[in-house]
Amino acid sequence: MPEIISMGEALVEIMRDKIGAGLDTPEVFTGPYPSGAPAIFADCAARLGGQVGYVGTVGRDDFGKVIRERLQEDGVDLSCFYETEESTTGVAFVAYFPDGSRKFIYHIRNAASGLMEPERIPESYFQGARYLHVNGSAISINETWRNTVYRSLELARRYEVQVSFDPNIRPEILGVDRVRELCQPILDAVHIVFPSGEEAAMLTGETDVARACQILIDRGAGCVVLKRGDEGCSVITSDGRRDVPSFKVNEVDPTGAGDCFDAGFLVALQRGLDLFSCGRFANAVGALAVTRKGPMEGAPFLHEVLAMPGLEKEIRAGFGKF
Ligand code: ATP
Ligand code: MG
Repeated sequence: MPEIISMGEALVEIMRDKIGAGLDTPEVFTGPYPSGAPAIFADCAARLGGQVGYVGTVGRDDFGKVIRERLQEDGVDLSCFYETEESTTGVAFVAYFPDGSRKFIYHIRNAASGLMEPERIPESYFQGARYLHVNGSAISINETWRNTVYRSLELARRYEVQVSFDPNIRPEILGVDRVRELCQPILDAVHIVFPSGEEAAMLTGETDVARACQILIDRGAGCVVLKRGDEGCSVITSDGRRDVPSFKVNEVDPTGAGDCFDAGFLVALQRGLDLFSCGRFANAVGALAVTRKGPMEGAPFLHEVLAMPGLEKEIRAGFGKF
């Protein structure tokens, strides 16, 4: 049984090889690469040595096989990983442009990734778990996934599983009011929130990011870990705010960095590190994640993070024999 549970969509990414090649012309694609925020989180947590389970659905096809084999190889618990004949595996087509922007065509909601039932996850899965990690993308898939997440929050409460939340919701699709309404049950149960500045502002309606994080704390979150890209992160609790410095790297592809960061923070927390050290370790994980192309390809292994120049030896010591 896993100590950390992650749930939501898994998919493959098929991406343009050439920067500037849009999705509306015949050009070369590469892939499939395993992806989907909750799956990236789970894979990275496993690579870092965490006992993690991933809950989600893929089609019984070769794309589904790509996802299953990656998660299996890295040691993710797959007892709640479902393969279906009903639909094919979720797909995202991605194009990259010279200004750093990206364009997507998604096949998720009406693909196998959208299939789930709240009662499908056995209650026993939560017994012995310590963290339920909720990614905002999971509640934006469809109603059945929302109900699955909300039921999981109830089980988390029943079995004293702490809840962590990465908002990761694009308000352009659902509208800000609807996003806040959907996130409320999660915020009511949450212990740790992992927002970007924009997401903290969106969730609270407060444009000043520092104040927005404070509002999340006042509303009951034990800890807010604000992700700040190449500037690292800030750890905010009722005791105040501490900025945690980042690592200098050459950024190649930022996709998935946020999910790897979340994984790093929770795995370090499970090892008993203090919050500042968890932030520092997570910064190292996020920094390594942006150095490689591909959504899940950047997820680093524990030995790579511990070999990161500048990582404090006290943090290394927290990981035992490494
Ligand atoms: P996304 O949702 O697109 O995955 P995010 O907004 O959740 O991203 P970011 O702040 O972009 O998350 O990145 C997560 C973490 O990864 C940062 O807090 C930081 O620790 C690390 N990171 C990201 N980009 C860089 C970079 N260029 N250099 C060093 N560290 C980085
Ligand atoms: Mg994010």
